[in-house]
Amino acid sequence: MSEINRIVIIGAGNVGTATLSAVVNSNIASEVVMVDINHQKAEGETTDLSDTTSFNYTPNVRVKSGTYEDCTHAQAIIITAGPSISNPNESRTALANKNSKVITSVMQSISKYTKDAVIVLVTNPLDVVTYIAHKSCSYPSNKIIGTGTLLDTARFRRILADKYALDPKNVHGYILGEHGSTAFVVWSLVNIAGMKIEDFDNVLGKNIVNEKESILDHTKKRGFEIVEKKGSTSFGVAGAAQRIVRAVLLDEKCILPVSTVLTGEYGLSDVALSVPCIIGKNGVEKILELPLTEEECEALNKSADYIKSILNNIE
Ligand code: NAD
Repeated sequence: MSEINRIVIIGAGNVGTATLSAVVNSNIASEVVMVDINHQKAEGETTDLSDTTSFNYTPNVRVKSGTYEDCTHAQAIIITAGPSISNPNESRTALANKNSKVITSVMQSISKYTKDAVIVLVTNPLDVVTYIAHKSCSYPSNKIIGTGTLLDTARFRRILADKYALDPKNVHGYILGEHGSTAFVVWSLVNIAGMKIEDFDNVLGKNIVNEKESILDHTKKRGFEIVEKKGSTSFGVAGAAQRIVRAVLLDEKCILPVSTVLTGEYGLSDVALSVPCIIGKNGVEKILELPLTEEECEALNKSADYIKSILNNIE
Protein backbone atom coordinates (compact mmCIF):
# COMPACT_ATOMS: atom_id res chain seq x y z
CA MET A 1 0.00 0.00 0.00
CA SER A 2 1.18 3.51 -0.71
CA GLU A 3 1.62 6.00 2.13
CA ILE A 4 -0.56 8.60 0.45
CA ASN A 5 -4.32 8.42 0.53
CA ARG A 6 -5.24 7.68 -3.07
CA ILE A 7 -8.87 7.32 -4.08
CA VAL A 8 -9.86 6.18 -7.58
CA ILE A 9 -13.29 6.98 -9.03
CA ILE A 10 -14.43 4.85 -11.98
CA GLY A 11 -17.02 6.68 -14.10
CA ALA A 12 -16.97 10.40 -14.90
CA GLY A 13 -20.71 10.97 -15.38
CA ASN A 14 -23.13 12.92 -13.15
CA VAL A 15 -22.50 10.75 -10.11
CA GLY A 16 -18.75 10.32 -10.64
CA THR A 17 -18.31 14.08 -10.96
CA ALA A 18 -20.33 14.88 -7.82
CA THR A 19 -18.36 12.17 -6.00
CA LEU A 20 -15.07 13.69 -7.19
CA SER A 21 -16.07 17.03 -5.70
CA ALA A 22 -17.31 15.45 -2.43
CA VAL A 23 -14.13 13.42 -1.99
CA VAL A 24 -11.70 16.22 -2.90
CA ASN A 25 -13.43 18.61 -0.48
CA SER A 26 -13.58 16.10 2.38
CA ASN A 27 -9.92 16.52 3.43
CA ILE A 28 -9.24 12.77 3.42
CA ALA A 29 -7.35 12.29 0.16
CA SER A 30 -3.90 13.25 -1.08
CA GLU A 31 -4.62 12.05 -4.59
CA VAL A 32 -7.86 11.41 -6.48
CA VAL A 33 -7.75 9.69 -9.87
CA MET A 34 -10.72 9.45 -12.24
CA VAL A 35 -11.04 6.69 -14.85
CA ASP A 36 -13.65 6.51 -17.64
CA ILE A 37 -13.87 4.79 -21.02
CA ASN A 38 -14.46 8.36 -22.18
CA HIS A 39 -10.97 9.47 -21.15
CA GLN A 40 -11.51 12.99 -22.44
CA LYS A 41 -14.51 13.49 -20.11
CA ALA A 42 -12.47 12.25 -17.13
CA GLU A 43 -9.67 14.62 -18.12
CA GLY A 44 -12.06 17.57 -18.42
CA GLU A 45 -13.73 16.91 -15.06
CA THR A 46 -10.46 16.39 -13.16
CA THR A 47 -8.75 19.42 -14.69
CA ASP A 48 -11.79 21.56 -13.84
CA LEU A 49 -11.84 20.37 -10.23
CA SER A 50 -8.07 20.60 -9.90
CA ASP A 51 -8.41 24.32 -10.65
CA THR A 52 -10.10 24.77 -7.23
CA THR A 53 -7.07 23.54 -5.25
CA SER A 54 -5.30 26.91 -5.01
CA PHE A 55 -8.18 28.46 -3.07
CA ASN A 56 -7.84 29.03 0.66
CA TYR A 57 -8.69 26.12 2.95
CA THR A 58 -8.57 23.60 0.09
CA PRO A 59 -6.03 20.83 0.63
CA ASN A 60 -3.45 20.34 -2.11
CA VAL A 61 -5.10 17.22 -3.51
CA ARG A 62 -3.57 15.93 -6.72
CA VAL A 63 -6.59 15.46 -8.99
CA LYS A 64 -6.07 13.74 -12.32
CA SER A 65 -7.52 11.36 -14.86
CA GLY A 66 -5.85 7.99 -15.12
CA THR A 67 -6.13 4.31 -15.97
CA TYR A 68 -6.88 1.12 -14.07
CA GLU A 69 -3.17 0.88 -13.29
CA ASP A 70 -3.73 3.75 -10.82
CA CYS A 71 -5.76 1.32 -8.70
CA THR A 72 -2.44 -0.30 -7.67
CA HIS A 73 -1.85 1.91 -4.64
CA ALA A 74 -5.39 3.06 -4.00
CA GLN A 75 -6.95 2.78 -0.53
CA ALA A 76 -10.48 3.07 -1.92
CA ILE A 77 -12.10 2.75 -5.35
CA ILE A 78 -15.59 4.13 -5.99
CA ILE A 79 -17.46 2.61 -8.96
CA THR A 80 -20.02 4.91 -10.57
CA ALA A 81 -19.60 3.53 -14.12
CA GLY A 82 -22.55 2.52 -16.23
CA PRO A 83 -25.81 4.09 -17.33
CA SER A 84 -28.93 4.95 -15.31
CA ILE A 85 -32.43 3.89 -16.29
CA SER A 86 -32.79 5.52 -19.73
CA ASN A 87 -36.56 6.05 -19.58
CA PRO A 88 -39.31 5.46 -16.98
CA ASN A 89 -40.43 2.30 -18.84
CA GLU A 90 -37.04 0.59 -18.69
CA SER A 91 -37.15 -2.33 -16.23
CA ARG A 92 -34.70 -3.00 -13.40
CA THR A 93 -33.83 -6.24 -15.22
CA ALA A 94 -32.89 -4.37 -18.42
CA LEU A 95 -30.60 -2.07 -16.43
CA ALA A 96 -29.22 -5.09 -14.55
CA ASN A 97 -28.36 -6.74 -17.87
CA LYS A 98 -26.39 -3.69 -19.02
CA ASN A 99 -24.65 -2.89 -15.76
CA SER A 100 -23.80 -6.46 -14.75
CA LYS A 101 -21.55 -6.52 -17.85
CA VAL A 102 -20.06 -3.11 -17.01
CA ILE A 103 -19.34 -4.15 -13.39
CA THR A 104 -17.84 -7.51 -14.38
CA SER A 105 -15.47 -5.78 -16.78
CA VAL A 106 -14.58 -3.01 -14.27
CA MET A 107 -13.95 -5.55 -11.47
CA GLN A 108 -11.72 -7.67 -13.71
CA SER A 109 -9.72 -4.58 -14.67
CA ILE A 110 -9.36 -3.46 -11.03
CA SER A 111 -8.33 -6.89 -9.75
CA LYS A 112 -5.40 -7.01 -12.19
CA TYR A 113 -3.84 -4.27 -10.06
CA THR A 114 -5.16 -4.66 -6.50
CA LYS A 115 -7.14 -6.75 -4.10
CA ASP A 116 -6.32 -4.46 -1.18
CA ALA A 117 -8.43 -1.39 -1.88
CA VAL A 118 -11.94 -1.17 -0.47
CA ILE A 119 -14.41 -0.95 -3.34
CA VAL A 120 -17.54 1.19 -2.96
CA LEU A 121 -20.27 0.51 -5.53
CA VAL A 122 -22.76 3.16 -6.57
CA THR A 123 -23.96 1.84 -9.97
CA ASN A 124 -27.60 0.63 -10.12
CA PRO A 125 -29.37 -1.69 -9.60
CA LEU A 126 -27.17 -1.33 -6.53
CA ASP A 127 -27.68 -4.62 -4.68
CA VAL A 128 -27.58 -6.64 -7.89
CA VAL A 129 -24.27 -5.14 -9.02
CA THR A 130 -22.79 -5.47 -5.51
CA TYR A 131 -23.48 -9.21 -5.71
CA ILE A 132 -22.14 -9.39 -9.29
CA ALA A 133 -18.94 -7.60 -8.18
CA HIS A 134 -18.53 -10.23 -5.46
CA LYS A 135 -19.06 -13.08 -7.94
CA SER A 136 -17.01 -11.66 -10.83
CA CYS A 137 -13.57 -12.30 -9.34
CA SER A 138 -12.15 -13.54 -6.08
CA TYR A 139 -12.02 -10.10 -4.47
CA PRO A 140 -12.28 -10.19 -0.63
CA SER A 141 -15.99 -9.95 0.17
CA ASN A 142 -15.53 -7.59 3.14
CA LYS A 143 -13.87 -5.12 0.77
CA ILE A 144 -16.89 -4.85 -1.54
CA ILE A 145 -19.46 -2.36 -0.21
CA GLY A 146 -22.56 -1.00 -1.92
CA THR A 147 -23.82 2.47 -0.88
CA GLY A 148 -27.22 0.73 -0.62
CA THR A 149 -29.71 2.23 1.80
CA LEU A 150 -27.18 4.65 3.29
CA LEU A 151 -28.66 7.16 0.84
CA ASP A 152 -32.27 6.16 1.64
CA THR A 153 -31.41 6.43 5.35
CA ALA A 154 -29.96 9.92 4.85
CA ARG A 155 -33.10 10.96 3.00
CA PHE A 156 -35.30 9.46 5.73
CA ARG A 157 -33.36 11.27 8.48
CA ARG A 158 -33.67 14.58 6.59
CA ILE A 159 -37.42 14.12 5.99
CA LEU A 160 -38.16 13.09 9.60
CA ALA A 161 -35.93 15.85 11.01
CA ASP A 162 -37.79 18.44 8.90
CA LYS A 163 -41.08 17.31 10.46
CA TYR A 164 -39.70 18.38 13.86
CA ALA A 165 -37.49 21.23 12.52
CA LEU A 166 -34.41 19.42 13.90
CA ASP A 167 -30.87 18.61 12.80
CA PRO A 168 -31.00 15.23 10.96
CA LYS A 169 -27.93 14.17 12.94
CA ASN A 170 -30.25 13.94 15.97
CA VAL A 171 -32.48 11.45 14.14
CA HIS A 172 -31.24 7.87 14.49
CA GLY A 173 -32.51 4.89 12.59
CA TYR A 174 -32.10 2.84 9.44
CA ILE A 175 -33.73 2.03 6.18
CA LEU A 176 -32.70 -1.52 5.34
CA GLY A 177 -33.07 -4.08 2.55
CA GLU A 178 -32.98 -3.27 -1.14
CA HIS A 179 -31.91 0.16 -2.41
CA GLY A 180 -35.21 0.42 -4.25
CA SER A 181 -38.93 -0.18 -4.01
CA THR A 182 -38.84 -2.86 -1.26
CA ALA A 183 -36.71 -0.80 1.18
CA PHE A 184 -38.29 -0.39 4.62
CA VAL A 185 -37.87 1.65 7.83
CA VAL A 186 -36.86 -0.23 10.98
CA TRP A 187 -39.34 1.77 13.07
CA SER A 188 -38.67 -0.36 16.15
CA LEU A 189 -35.15 1.16 16.34
CA VAL A 190 -35.84 4.75 15.21
CA ASN A 191 -35.15 7.27 17.97
CA ILE A 192 -34.64 10.97 18.62
CA ALA A 193 -32.85 11.95 21.84
CA GLY A 194 -33.05 8.28 22.80
CA MET A 195 -36.86 8.26 22.55
CA LYS A 196 -39.18 6.47 20.13
CA ILE A 197 -41.04 8.99 18.00
CA GLU A 198 -44.31 8.05 19.79
CA ASP A 199 -42.77 9.55 22.96
CA PHE A 200 -40.80 12.30 21.26
CA ASP A 201 -44.07 13.57 19.74
CA ASN A 202 -45.20 14.41 23.30
CA VAL A 203 -42.02 16.39 23.97
CA LEU A 204 -42.63 18.74 21.02
CA GLY A 205 -46.45 18.50 20.99
CA LYS A 206 -46.52 16.87 17.53
CA ASN A 207 -48.31 13.90 16.01
CA ILE A 208 -45.73 12.62 13.52
CA VAL A 209 -46.31 8.99 14.56
CA ASN A 210 -49.40 8.95 12.33
CA GLU A 211 -47.30 9.85 9.31
CA LYS A 212 -45.06 6.76 9.31
CA GLU A 213 -46.42 5.39 6.05
CA SER A 214 -46.19 8.69 4.16
CA ILE A 215 -42.65 9.29 5.48
CA LEU A 216 -41.47 5.98 3.98
CA ASP A 217 -43.36 6.72 0.78
CA HIS A 218 -41.77 10.18 0.51
CA THR A 219 -38.32 8.72 1.20
CA LYS A 220 -38.72 6.18 -1.61
CA LYS A 221 -40.04 8.80 -4.06
CA ARG A 222 -37.33 11.35 -3.26
CA GLY A 223 -34.99 10.07 -6.01
CA PHE A 224 -37.76 10.18 -8.66
CA GLU A 225 -38.73 13.71 -7.57
CA ILE A 226 -35.14 14.86 -8.06
CA VAL A 227 -34.80 13.12 -11.45
CA GLU A 228 -38.03 14.78 -12.62
CA LYS A 229 -36.57 18.19 -11.73
CA LYS A 230 -32.88 17.91 -12.72
CA GLY A 231 -32.67 14.79 -14.86
CA SER A 232 -30.53 12.69 -12.49
CA THR A 233 -29.50 12.42 -8.85
CA SER A 234 -25.90 12.93 -7.81
CA PHE A 235 -25.10 14.92 -4.65
CA GLY A 236 -26.93 12.61 -2.23
CA VAL A 237 -25.27 9.41 -3.34
CA ALA A 238 -21.92 11.19 -3.72
CA GLY A 239 -22.24 12.12 -0.03
CA ALA A 240 -22.98 8.48 0.82
CA ALA A 241 -19.94 7.21 -1.12
CA GLN A 242 -17.74 9.84 0.50
CA ARG A 243 -19.08 8.89 3.97
CA ILE A 244 -18.11 5.22 3.46
CA VAL A 245 -14.66 6.06 2.08
CA ARG A 246 -14.02 8.40 5.01
CA ALA A 247 -14.96 5.63 7.46
CA VAL A 248 -12.48 3.32 5.72
CA LEU A 249 -9.57 5.77 5.41
CA LEU A 250 -9.92 6.98 9.01
CA ASP A 251 -10.68 3.46 10.33
CA GLU A 252 -13.75 4.93 12.03
CA LYS A 253 -15.48 1.68 13.14
CA CYS A 254 -18.78 3.48 12.57
CA ILE A 255 -22.11 1.75 11.97
CA LEU A 256 -23.59 2.42 8.54
CA PRO A 257 -26.38 0.64 6.65
CA VAL A 258 -24.62 -0.58 3.50
CA SER A 259 -25.08 -3.33 0.96
CA THR A 260 -22.99 -6.42 1.61
CA VAL A 261 -23.18 -10.09 0.67
CA LEU A 262 -24.89 -12.04 3.47
CA THR A 263 -23.70 -15.48 4.51
CA GLY A 264 -26.42 -16.61 6.89
CA GLU A 265 -27.03 -13.36 8.79
CA TYR A 266 -30.76 -12.77 9.33
CA GLY A 267 -31.22 -16.27 7.88
CA LEU A 268 -30.21 -15.01 4.41
CA SER A 269 -27.35 -15.95 2.11
CA ASP A 270 -26.19 -15.59 -1.48
CA VAL A 271 -27.64 -12.11 -1.81
CA ALA A 272 -26.41 -8.55 -1.26
CA LEU A 273 -28.62 -6.07 0.56
CA SER A 274 -28.29 -3.36 3.19
CA VAL A 275 -27.97 -4.13 6.88
CA PRO A 276 -26.10 -2.17 9.57
CA CYS A 277 -22.35 -2.89 9.38
CA ILE A 278 -19.27 -1.73 11.27
CA ILE A 279 -17.05 0.03 8.72
CA GLY A 280 -13.31 0.47 9.23
CA LYS A 281 -10.03 0.12 7.36
CA ASN A 282 -10.90 -3.43 6.26
CA GLY A 283 -14.26 -2.41 4.80
CA VAL A 284 -17.17 -4.31 6.34
CA GLU A 285 -15.59 -5.43 9.61
CA LYS A 286 -18.78 -6.85 11.10
CA ILE A 287 -22.35 -7.36 9.96
CA LEU A 288 -24.65 -6.48 12.86
CA GLU A 289 -27.66 -8.70 13.46
CA LEU A 290 -30.02 -6.30 15.21
CA PRO A 291 -33.26 -7.50 16.80
CA LEU A 292 -35.97 -6.87 14.19
CA THR A 293 -39.69 -7.33 14.71
CA GLU A 294 -41.46 -10.13 12.85
CA GLU A 295 -42.85 -7.60 10.37
CA GLU A 296 -39.38 -6.13 9.76
CA CYS A 297 -37.90 -9.62 9.22
CA GLU A 298 -40.63 -10.27 6.64
CA ALA A 299 -39.76 -7.00 4.88
CA LEU A 300 -36.06 -7.97 4.78
CA ASN A 301 -36.96 -11.37 3.29
CA LYS A 302 -39.16 -9.65 0.71
CA SER A 303 -36.24 -7.43 -0.34
CA ALA A 304 -33.95 -10.47 -0.60
CA ASP A 305 -36.48 -12.35 -2.75
CA TYR A 306 -36.89 -9.35 -5.05
CA ILE A 307 -33.13 -8.88 -5.55
CA LYS A 308 -32.68 -12.62 -6.18
CA SER A 309 -35.48 -12.55 -8.76
CA ILE A 310 -33.60 -9.87 -10.74
CA LEU A 311 -30.31 -11.76 -10.41
CA ASN A 312 -31.99 -14.93 -11.73
CA ASN A 313 -33.21 -13.08 -14.82
CA ILE A 314 -29.85 -11.62 -15.86
CA GLU A 315 -28.84 -12.88 -19.29
P1 NAD B 1 -23.83 8.77 -16.53
O1 NAD B 1 -24.43 8.14 -17.73
O2 NAD B 1 -23.84 10.27 -16.37
O3 NAD B 1 -22.31 8.30 -16.36
C1 NAD B 1 -21.90 6.98 -16.50
C2 NAD B 1 -20.42 7.03 -16.86
O4 NAD B 1 -19.90 5.68 -16.84
C3 NAD B 1 -20.15 7.59 -18.27
O5 NAD B 1 -19.21 8.67 -18.17
C4 NAD B 1 -19.55 6.39 -19.04
O6 NAD B 1 -18.58 6.77 -20.00
C5 NAD B 1 -18.94 5.59 -17.88
N1 NAD B 1 -18.69 4.17 -18.19
C6 NAD B 1 -19.54 3.28 -18.77
N2 NAD B 1 -18.94 2.07 -18.85
C7 NAD B 1 -17.71 2.20 -18.29
C8 NAD B 1 -16.63 1.30 -18.07
N3 NAD B 1 -16.69 0.03 -18.45
N4 NAD B 1 -15.50 1.77 -17.47
C9 NAD B 1 -15.42 3.08 -17.09
N5 NAD B 1 -16.41 3.97 -17.27
C10 NAD B 1 -17.54 3.54 -17.87
O7 NAD B 1 -24.58 8.11 -15.27
P2 NAD B 1 -24.67 8.71 -13.79
O8 NAD B 1 -25.85 9.59 -13.67
O9 NAD B 1 -23.32 9.21 -13.39
O10 NAD B 1 -25.00 7.38 -12.99
C11 NAD B 1 -24.03 6.35 -12.87
C12 NAD B 1 -24.63 5.15 -12.16
O11 NAD B 1 -24.95 5.50 -10.79
C13 NAD B 1 -25.96 4.66 -12.78
O12 NAD B 1 -25.99 3.24 -12.80
C14 NAD B 1 -27.01 5.22 -11.84
O13 NAD B 1 -28.23 4.50 -11.88
C15 NAD B 1 -26.29 5.06 -10.53
N6 NAD B 1 -26.83 5.83 -9.41
C16 NAD B 1 -26.89 5.18 -8.23
C17 NAD B 1 -27.41 5.83 -7.12
C18 NAD B 1 -27.49 5.07 -5.82
O14 NAD B 1 -28.10 5.53 -4.86
N7 NAD B 1 -26.88 3.90 -5.72
C19 NAD B 1 -27.86 7.15 -7.21
C20 NAD B 1 -27.74 7.80 -8.45
C21 NAD B 1 -27.25 7.12 -9.56
